[in-house]
Amino acid sequence: MPLYKMLDKFSVFDLIIIAMISALGIASKPLIVPLCHIITGPLLIPGGVVAGGFYMFWLVLGAGIVGKPGAATMIGVVQALMVFGAGIFGSHGVMTLLSYTLPGLAVDLLLFLMGHRVCCLLCAFLAGLVANISGSALVNIIYFRLPVVPLVLALTVAALSGGLGGSIAYKVLQLVKQNKGWGSG
Ligand SMILES: [Zn+2]
Repeated sequence: MPLYKMLDKFSVFDLIIIAMISALGIASKPLIVPLCHIITGPLLIPGGVVAGGFYMFWLVLGAGIVGKPGAATMIGVVQALMVFGAGIFGSHGVMTLLSYTLPGLAVDLLLFLMGHRVCCLLCAFLAGLVANISGSALVNIIYFRLPVVPLVLALTVAALSGGLGGSIAYKVLQLVKQNKGWGSG
């Protein structure tokens, strides 16, 4: 689908939400990542795996608020562009760009296949799960080249923290919708 056609489906409100969620995700990362490294350091698990769960929270929340296919991918792409534009992609380079866009694609694909829109705890949990696994698998297999056992351990932690992030996003989404009086759409 051409980009302009994809953009056409989103209202100005949707785009503002996408931009805000993207910025919040990026801005909160420097606070969360060092914290996660402190927790995961002794366990020999890459801190990014746990931090990823927190990041996926924003992705699932954005997809839920906008409620249209492609929203999570948009957030991923906007974040990749932000990181790229700010020149803070560091040593991971192109890998960082992929690690931002791939989880967004995974969320949209899962919701599309399930026919859900962050409408229940299950799809929110699974959306966070696939998002964090796709990002973590990419980074840990290609970049860190983890051996099988630590990789399985890392991906298990990624699945749990991603699912947790997605579940929290679902709870927050319920609160947001209640307060704003938004309907099911
Ligand atoms: Zn659902």
